Amino acid sequence: MMRHRPRAAPALIAPLLLAAAAPASVAAPATGLSGFTPEHAVAELALETRLTAVPSAAEARAVLRELTAEPHPAGSARNHELAEYVADTWRRQGLENVVIRRYDVLNSLPRSIALEMLSPVRYTAALREEGFDADPDTRNPRVRGGWVSMSASGEVTAPIVYAHGGNPEDYAVLAASGIDVRGKVVLVRYSNPYSYRGYKALTAERHGAAALLIYSDPAEDGYRPETALPNGPRGPASHIQRGAITYDFITPGDPLTPGWPSLPGARRLSPAEATSLPKIMATVISWQDARPLLEHMGGPPAPAAWQGGLPLTYRLGGEAVVHFRVDMDTRVQPIEVVEARITGAEVPDEWIVLGNHRDAWEFGAVDPSSGTTALLGVSHALGDLLRAGRRPRRTLILCSWDAEEVALTGSTEWGEEFAGELRRKLVAYLNVDEGVSGPDFAVSAVPSLAPLLVDVSRSVEDPSGRPLYAAWRESVRRKRAEAHVELPVTDANLVETKIPGSSDDTVFLSFLVRPTMTAGFEGGDYYPSVYHSVYDDFYWMEHFGDPGFRYHVLMSQFWGVTALRLANADVVPLDFELYGRSIAGFLDELSQRTAAASQLPFARLRRAAADLERAGAEARGAIRAALDSGRLGADGERRLNAALLQVEGNWRDPAGIPHRPWYQHVIYAKRFNYDPLQLPGVTEAAEAGDWRTARAQAATLEAALRRNVALLRALAADATRLAAAR
Ligand SMILES: [Zn+2]
Repeated sequence: MMRHRPRAAPALIAPLLLAAAAPASVAAPATGLSGFTPEHAVAELALETRLTAVPSAAEARAVLRELTAEPHPAGSARNHELAEYVADTWRRQGLENVVIRRYDVLNSLPRSIALEMLSPVRYTAALREEGFDADPDTRNPRVRGGWVSMSASGEVTAPIVYAHGGNPEDYAVLAASGIDVRGKVVLVRYSNPYSYRGYKALTAERHGAAALLIYSDPAEDGYRPETALPNGPRGPASHIQRGAITYDFITPGDPLTPGWPSLPGARRLSPAEATSLPKIMATVISWQDARPLLEHMGGPPAPAAWQGGLPLTYRLGGEAVVHFRVDMDTRVQPIEVVEARITGAEVPDEWIVLGNHRDAWEFGAVDPSSGTTALLGVSHALGDLLRAGRRPRRTLILCSWDAEEVALTGSTEWGEEFAGELRRKLVAYLNVDEGVSGPDFAVSAVPSLAPLLVDVSRSVEDPSGRPLYAAWRESVRRKRAEAHVELPVTDANLVETKIPGSSDDTVFLSFLVRPTMTAGFEGGDYYPSVYHSVYDDFYWMEHFGDPGFRYHVLMSQFWGVTALRLANADVVPLDFELYGRSIAGFLDELSQRTAAASQLPFARLRRAAADLERAGAEARGAIRAALDSGRLGADGERRLNAALLQVEGNWRDPAGIPHRPWYQHVIYAKRFNYDPLQLPGVTEAAEAGDWRTARAQAATLEAALRRNVALLRALAADATRLAAAR
């Protein structure tokens, strides 16, 4: 899935704060490799050189062709075959403890879907994408056409209404125009900025609509004949953006087992009890199919802002009648998470998990197979190192998730099954979803991982021959200029620290409350007209996305080096100065939008964030000195690591945020429309004007900040003592 808001507004946008902030103080490798003693740094860099030499473009191309040979949505026979393929590959590469874990989860595939306009004209929607000769995969008879996962089944004949982006404010406009959507079929479009289709479904359901149709308007997808397939990289008029409408912003994973794993024999809710299960019928259609509906639906003209890219007057509808029928095969079915483990030589109970989903809407060359290809490149390199006797210090776990596209299901069930261990042992979860669609590197991560990720980007080379670091800075600078964002690019704001939470990182961040990152190479005219369509296939990747497969290689290199550095560091390179600064920025933004500054003990919160920033910098300096002193010792190292691993866990409130107990991180969650949401408990209450709840949430936040300030100060004192010891 992994759809994020546009990159126009990067992290730390609060200009106040930036003006006040010290110059970028992210540790540069010039002072040594973060987390390593000087001699271990030399060994680590040599090991990384061996690792980065393994992934090859030829292998990436062959693997991607295999992964994209057939459509492979969750629950399909082909996706089960691919689970075996990944497991066999890992065994052949020399990885250990390869297992396939099965979860029995609610899954949803289409049996048949029909949509016709009955009056004033008759039109039968195609609900399928056109194939073209140069790419035989587009004519594969097993391609399913348009559908959304977790639609209800049913049939309705009713008037059709146009509701723009399908967000609550759009229904207010309809109501003001005297249009009642109850019992009607509502047509909405994918919006820009993106708003999750499940939120459109929930909003339509709440307003009593009988059914929801979501289409891609040319105003959003940038359609022009000369740049559309087969002439160029963009989706043609018939492209359909599939997707799920599961209410995973309430609880992700199997809707019938919210918060516990869907193991065989597990307790299950009835579908009627499941709050994350939509009750409305829905499907997705192309603009080619939407056009006749828009042309003939009648009613008053829609507001100017609702007009789209089709050459017609968009109207609010209510006069034309459509017939819509959905028959979904929705039932509990097995899904499979493939897992491999390289047990650490020295600290086996500290884990680094690398994961990517395997299920795709159809062929899924970008989403997710480019990520799976990169993962199999990483595992190839790790297997070679293992055979050469170079076992990492910590444990590495590789996972191929299933049913991510349905409800982030596989990773969520796995995270829930191993929650106890993961909350204690997980150093970081490193996610890749859409690994490669173009040349622009983008990473979102908790701030404690950001300096490491910037460091790693200096160690791997972009296809242009420069360090990835240089290419990354340049593309971020270009994107900010295009979006008219006046924020100079610095090491401290390269990584996006507002985390979308629309991929498999969600369970690790929000439920387990551990450090996470999601990385990938974006761009390449992939979004939004190829994303989740049949055209996201091998042909597209080979002709447009990554013709030389060089970014697939680089994705493996970046991911592998990041994992290896975390696995081998003497002291895990988690850095908390930027965390404090980011939280301060989130607070400032909240005070600009709401009355938080007058209603909450805002100065105290702001001071606690500033203290965290300072304590993080002190801890980093003291750890560096201890590493350089050569006097750290095994006990000291263990203590420092234990403290560093505890910081993220201190952001956990086991009660969860108000009304969403599964989301337990006090700094990060997501909004219902999938926008990233910072300081979720405080923010949602403040936005609702519920200051009683906001004050209680602020107290929880302040206590967490204070715990971490104390922890980092004690850590810094300990490290200083160790460095000075005789
Ligand atoms: Zn994906």
